[in-house]
Amino acid sequence: MIKKQNLHTHTIYCDGTNTPEQIVEAAIEKGFDSIGFSGHSYMYYDNYIFPDRTVEYKAHINRLKKEYEERLKIYLGLEVDSYSGPETDLTGFDYLIGAVHELKRADQFFSIDESADNLRQVVEQYFDGDGLALARAYYEELSRLPEYGTFDIVAHFDLITKYRKVAAFFDEKSKQYRDYAIGAAEALAGKIPYFEVNSGAIARGYRTTPYPDPFIIKELKRLGFGAVITSDCHDCTKLDLYFDQAEELLRACGFKERYVLTDKGFKPVVL
Ligand SMILES: [Zn+2]
Ligand SMILES: [Zn+2]
Repeated sequence: MIKKQNLHTHTIYCDGTNTPEQIVEAAIEKGFDSIGFSGHSYMYYDNYIFPDRTVEYKAHINRLKKEYEERLKIYLGLEVDSYSGPETDLTGFDYLIGAVHELKRADQFFSIDESADNLRQVVEQYFDGDGLALARAYYEELSRLPEYGTFDIVAHFDLITKYRKVAAFFDEKSKQYRDYAIGAAEALAGKIPYFEVNSGAIARGYRTTPYPDPFIIKELKRLGFGAVITSDCHDCTKLDLYFDQAEELLRACGFKERYVLTDKGFKPVVL
């Protein structure tokens, strides 16, 4: 049974710092049973996300699956942005993660994931300085994910709080904010089966706790979502960083199990 796994892993095909081989070697060294690659999907208006290399990426990971079959189980995934567009081929993957890193206002696309300064500018430019309006737009877009594809996992549910340490654009304790987040959870319930407890922003120094906030995790539990633990890895030295904290958080929110991907689909592992 697969126990140690990370399904949210980026490589040099997008914004990660390592080759797939380096990730695989690091995973073996750290005692992983399996690893899933989740390159960012193509978006024509954002250079940050890899352009036409999807075919190459798929072939590369599929080749590694065979090369390493004796030592590590490898899965091929994709982290798909809601605005990736119809040119994104979603076929041939073992799993898909649905994510919102970009929003759109008046035909302009903008990132909500670039930097605190950038997000501050976004709030001013597109939301008249109203941070809650930004949060609302984010959760509305997140709610629409099932329109864009059939996803297994919702990525970093409250990504919009990424810069909370240095730039809080809204009060996360306010009823309004919570209603937006819960509204998205309700909209996705029964349509995307799993969410991730994602430690990536701790590893990169943005947060001190994993995504999502406990109040969201509890709502997701109430609504029947299964939990997957990931490190949203962009650097293979941090492949399993804060997994313990993520497990602890799930247990504190009432979860008894987390899910891992196997050859027979997602299966529970006792926490
Ligand atoms: Zn992401
Ligand atoms: Zn990611």
